[in-house]
Amino acid sequence: MKRIVLARRPDGEPVDADFRYEDAPMPVPGEGEVLVRVTDMSLDPYMRGRMDDAKSYAKPVELDHTMEGGAVGEVIASNHPKFAVGDHVFGMLGWATHGCLNGRELRKLDPSHGSTTTALGVLGMPGFTGWFGLMEYGKPKAGETLVVAAATGPVGSMVGQMAKLLGLRVVGIAGGADKCKLAKETFGFDECLDHRAYEDAKALRAALAEQCPNGVDIYFENVAGKVLEAVLPLMNVGGRIPVCGMIAWYNAGALGGNMTGAKDNLPKMWRTILVNRLHVHGFIISDHFERFPEFLMDAGPRVGKGDIKYVEDIAEGLENAPRTFMNMLKGGNFGKQIVKVG
Ligand code: NDP
Repeated sequence: MKRIVLARRPDGEPVDADFRYEDAPMPVPGEGEVLVRVTDMSLDPYMRGRMDDAKSYAKPVELDHTMEGGAVGEVIASNHPKFAVGDHVFGMLGWATHGCLNGRELRKLDPSHGSTTTALGVLGMPGFTGWFGLMEYGKPKAGETLVVAAATGPVGSMVGQMAKLLGLRVVGIAGGADKCKLAKETFGFDECLDHRAYEDAKALRAALAEQCPNGVDIYFENVAGKVLEAVLPLMNVGGRIPVCGMIAWYNAGALGGNMTGAKDNLPKMWRTILVNRLHVHGFIISDHFERFPEFLMDAGPRVGKGDIKYVEDIAEGLENAPRTFMNMLKGGNFGKQIVKVG
């Protein structure tokens, strides 16, 4: 089998030399274990954090160990009563052509419900993150205004579409005209602003203020950086900020190398939270998987009927995963980033 390991911890933006593509012995399934041939794997922003040796909600990937990640594939050997050869499954199988996990750590997929790749995006962890964060901490109400950045990714597009279905005004922020078009024409956002078209937070804030004439009730935080600085002063009293991610600062490391705006604006930011009585709630989706069946029951049929749309960006070949990952961190993905492995 082939796999990609973490060869070195990145210093800022990851580079080719931080990864190594190599041969590894084919795992032999032990008692209760299942051997899977990976067909498609997911690339997600959180993987950047796992490359650093820093205290976080999950342990870092160890050097010379397989990069972690969710993947879907086909069972090729099983010592678990619930899985048979030929079954399609999802699991944390890593950046590899094959993975071996205990059956308890795998979820069976029904390919008759559509492509199994949806288990990596719209009906997987990212879609669940958007759905849960919005419903639980965003507390959306019809007529309110929501802003979300990384609007065309699997998290942002779920947040925006659910909010539209619930009767909110939805303003997205995305990188580039094509992504803004996708947000409006495919995902049904009311408006979408290209963050790259504004030289600083002040200019972006002025454009956002025009698109949010009644202020912002929910800012679903995916990126931080310039976008956070732009949105925060527009928040209405009692506004909600589900803090889901801060990708603009991921390459700065856990303790903040160059976190634009982070230090200088801290007093102003803290005051805004007080004066506007904002509800700011950080969450990590892995704490909430008991709600996953509820999510699937709600979102599954909506996806089936086309009320919730999804777009996948599928790269070819495990060996191209590092480059595709680095590209995604810079916004090079157009929809959910997946790598076709098998
Ligand atoms: P995406 O597929 O949307 O990919 C990341 C996107 O982030 C890029 O395409 C780019 O979009 C945007 N981006 C990157 N750098 C910047 C920047 N400097 N400023 C503004 N935007 C930037 O990712 P996901 O939908 O998978 O994830 C979205 C967020 O949710 C991430 O922060 C992720 O870490 C977080 N997350 C958190 C979870 C949790 O448990 N809390 C679980 C899952 C995801 P564009 O080109 O449009 O700017």
